[in-house]
Amino acid sequence: MAEVIDGKSVAADVVSKVKALTAELSAKGATRPGLAVVIVGEDPASQVYVASKSRTAKECGFHSLQHTLPAETTEEQLLKTIGDLNADPSIHGILVQLPLPGHIDAGKVIQTIAPEKDVDGFHFINVGKLGTGELETAFVPCTPVGSMLLIQRVRGKDLSGLNAIVVGRSNIVGKPMANLLLAANCTVTIAHSRTKDLPALARTADILVAAVGRPEMIKGDWVKPGATVIDVGINRIPAPEKGEGKSRLVGDVVYAEAAAVAGAITPVPGGVGPMTIAMLMANTVASAYLAAGLKRPSF
Ligand code: NAP
Repeated sequence: MAEVIDGKSVAADVVSKVKALTAELSAKGATRPGLAVVIVGEDPASQVYVASKSRTAKECGFHSLQHTLPAETTEEQLLKTIGDLNADPSIHGILVQLPLPGHIDAGKVIQTIAPEKDVDGFHFINVGKLGTGELETAFVPCTPVGSMLLIQRVRGKDLSGLNAIVVGRSNIVGKPMANLLLAANCTVTIAHSRTKDLPALARTADILVAAVGRPEMIKGDWVKPGATVIDVGINRIPAPEKGEGKSRLVGDVVYAEAAAVAGAITPVPGGVGPMTIAMLMANTVASAYLAAGLKRPSF
């Protein structure tokens, strides 16, 4: 059976390290990391995410600011809020919770965030830095950078020559994941909905990352024996066995089948999921270090 990669415990390690770095920063008389989370409208799922991000920021000792704006906020008002946060020296990270209401151009909003405060890593400057290997100053999206940390826990930092297949080519997960693997010297293939014979391709992967959003699409016999399997997918499916109207979370991989073949695998829930918020904190503390003219801490 595969080693189960415990994302909860790795995420807890990251949060403790962020706490220690925050304390070190204030001991140096430098700055206190500040994270501003902006939410527009009342989407319940977004509110849960935002509350959890603000809670973890406080736990890390950050100055944590939350702007909850009504659904009818205009694009101009939102851009003004971001402009104010860009200019506020007590804020090192700005996160705009997506999705935004339809009358607001999310792309324009994201590109308005100062790149050095873009702890989500969505600004073109950060995307470009990742693409060109400028990892010392780039902010990389939290889910792929967290997935990378899990891979390195199993495989070490240098992944030279390993075959990595990333299934999914989104800007938030698939593409940055592929760039991180490339920077770590993997031979990388990005697969997507038009890829031919995905099962055969997947079977060549030493590292298989699934970021598709299709419940249990990847079967056990798609997995190379000994492979590291990172399941980014979070899918809610009906679970009548738990009672009427009940549901449960599954990944993009058939966990039990893949775990019988893989060398290591992330469970869902409890794998990649907890890493996302932890890496948001890591990016924010890194931004505060860079703003204070200090060396960026590594995770
Ligand atoms: P997305 O933007 O919908 O992208 C999905 C990708 O999967 C697309 O590139 C798509 O290909 C590809 N795809 C769809 N059907 C396929 C198929 N049959 N065969 C091969 N590829 C296929 O999704 P995302 O934002 O990257 O998220 C992916 C999953 O990760 C979702 O389950 C999401 O909930 C989860 N997620 C988790 C976290 C976390 O914190 N753990 C964070 C973000 C996302 P095309 O480009 O050709 O359409």
